[in-house]
Amino acid sequence: MQTISDSLQKLVPQIPSHPLVSIVIPVYNEEEGLEQLFTRLYSSLDQLVIDLSVRYEVVFINDGSSDQSAAKLAAQFEKRPDTTRVVLFNGNFGQHMAIMAGFNYSHGDFVITLDADLQNPPEEIHRIVELLLKGHDYVGTIREARKDSRFRRYASKAMNQLRERITKITMTDQGCMMRGYNRRIVNLMKKSKELNTFIPALGFTYASHPIEIKVKHEERFAGESKYSLYQLIRLNFDLVTGFSVLPLQAFSLIGFFLALGSAALFIYLIFRRFIIGAEVEGVFTLFALNFFLMGVLLFGLGLLGEYVGRIYQQVRKRPRYVVMGVLEQDDQQ
Ligand code: UDP
Ligand code: MG
Repeated sequence: MQTISDSLQKLVPQIPSHPLVSIVIPVYNEEEGLEQLFTRLYSSLDQLVIDLSVRYEVVFINDGSSDQSAAKLAAQFEKRPDTTRVVLFNGNFGQHMAIMAGFNYSHGDFVITLDADLQNPPEEIHRIVELLLKGHDYVGTIREARKDSRFRRYASKAMNQLRERITKITMTDQGCMMRGYNRRIVNLMKKSKELNTFIPALGFTYASHPIEIKVKHEERFAGESKYSLYQLIRLNFDLVTGFSVLPLQAFSLIGFFLALGSAALFIYLIFRRFIIGAEVEGVFTLFALNFFLMGVLLFGLGLLGEYVGRIYQQVRKRPRYVVMGVLEQDDQQ
């Protein structure tokens, strides 16, 4: 007789004997570091083939670089055409859209994303693949001894905490892009058509058997971070508004309590009017109170605008990115 656990077992996706691992790497003006990346990445992947008997492919997405990155990627494709694919964007569409495109052009049973600047050491891919082979559908990462500016580290910590409060996502370190996903999660992410997204959080919302590991973090090998403070703030807004409507609900709540307070103040002032008579004192307090309320109101309006703006962008249904061309071998899948 078939037991319940047998039938449950059938639901667990079977891992093929030589699974294909896709590595997805967004590249934006990284010419100085690419050579080093190729050397370290391909040698650790070749080792992976020996150690874990997997196959691999690497998908680079050139996110409209204005330097020699595209030429360097093309040269690497010519060197290793059997395992390399290069997707060329027609402009700069951002890291997360580049990764999305990478998902569309990858065929792996497992997909691993990492940065091109060598802040995520390619040698760590090994441990991620091992966990994916064990059946975890999402392998998250925590950067050990993070090598970023002190300001970035503190700001990130604060954002992680805020995000944890207002969304249901419980990742320890949202910012680390080196992550592993199985095919089911990647397919679900491909179906998610939002314009402003944050891939690690999106993947996490679909995960049913996630795990987090600590990975090493290195200094940027060359060049500078592509994110300005403004872009980081925007990205965090995307994260919060893209995964929760709690800020809007919080605002309704603030509005409700402010209205209650004002009503109480009004009643109190009416009583004073009858008991003490007309008073002109406290006019400036009233002004201050008024300005404060106006500030709250404007902030609320701005917040509403953030959501409305995103709805507007979404309903226009413009392509999320434009691919100019793909370098791949004809017989690649
Ligand atoms: N990146 C991209 N498009 C962009 C900005 C960045 O594809 O518009 C890539 C970049 O080449 C790198 C990764 O995203 O591979 C992370 O960028 P960066 O290292 O500048 O971010 P940080 O590590 O400072 O958060
Ligand atoms: Mg970086």
